[in-house]
Amino acid sequence: MTAPDDALDTLRAWLLDSRSTVIFTGAGISTESGIPDFRSPGGIWSRYRPIDFGEFMASEEKRRESWRMRFALENEGLFGQAQPNIAHRRIAEWIEQGRADCVITQNIDGLHQAAGVPDMQVIELHGNNQYAGCLECHKRFELAPIRANFMRDESLPWCDRCGGIVKSAVISFGQPMPEAAMRRAQAVSLGCELFIVIGSSLLVYPAADLPVLAKRRGARLVIINREPTPLDGLADLLLPRQIGPTLAGIDLPER
Ligand code: NAD
Repeated sequence: MTAPDDALDTLRAWLLDSRSTVIFTGAGISTESGIPDFRSPGGIWSRYRPIDFGEFMASEEKRRESWRMRFALENEGLFGQAQPNIAHRRIAEWIEQGRADCVITQNIDGLHQAAGVPDMQVIELHGNNQYAGCLECHKRFELAPIRANFMRDESLPWCDRCGGIVKSAVISFGQPMPEAAMRRAQAVSLGCELFIVIGSSLLVYPAADLPVLAKRRGARLVIINREPTPLDGLADLLLPRQIGPTLAGIDLPER
């Protein structure tokens, strides 16, 4: 294990050395944008109980509760209003420079794309709460008209193409993982030389298997997270630090 004082230099050197780098992010990268993470005190889920997929499908009242929660979070200035922070921007820069290949994210806030990472280079494991989709035919729906109708009389959105149930594009607890995204995430994890975890407790599966896959195939594993994670023992470099100032300190030259 590298001594903590050398840690930033080591990470910079590994980024420069690597021919294939994957960034893996969790809720911790967005706390500095004002979106609380999952487990810290005062986090979103200590105030709003997540509605699992089975409940959502089984009851119109649960669907209403779910939309109420979605728009309440927006009214609190969270999702939909938050802006990318220095860490999102730094990663976007690494991707533009060809220093990193893609971001695998557990986040649903769309802030990597807002920072400039092209859609194709963001692999979203848990979906995105910035739009909605039909659960039958997968037609995409924007939130503004759904919000306007819901605020008027709490009417639920239905698909105008097939009549299916429309749900925010987030993957809820109990909902199957998006297969294509998961397959792609596994492939890039298996193929990379450097895998950098940023702001994840690494407690949510199957996402937390990805650093293990990368490490087994010989990648260097770096974890930047202020609290310990269950995979710390596997890491080649641990940075238990604040994410924003840490990434701010790593600007890389053009290739
Ligand atoms: P998590 O909340 O379980 O863990 C976040 C980790 O980040 C914690 O260990 C915390 O110590 C660390 N952290 C927080 N702010 C930090 C900072 N500024 N610097 C350094 N470390 C910091 O998050 P997870 O592992 O992503 O799992 C949570 C689940 O909840 C995910 O599946 C995600 O989909 C969802 N979620 C998403 C968002 C979002 O999109 N922004 C927010 C909350 C929850």
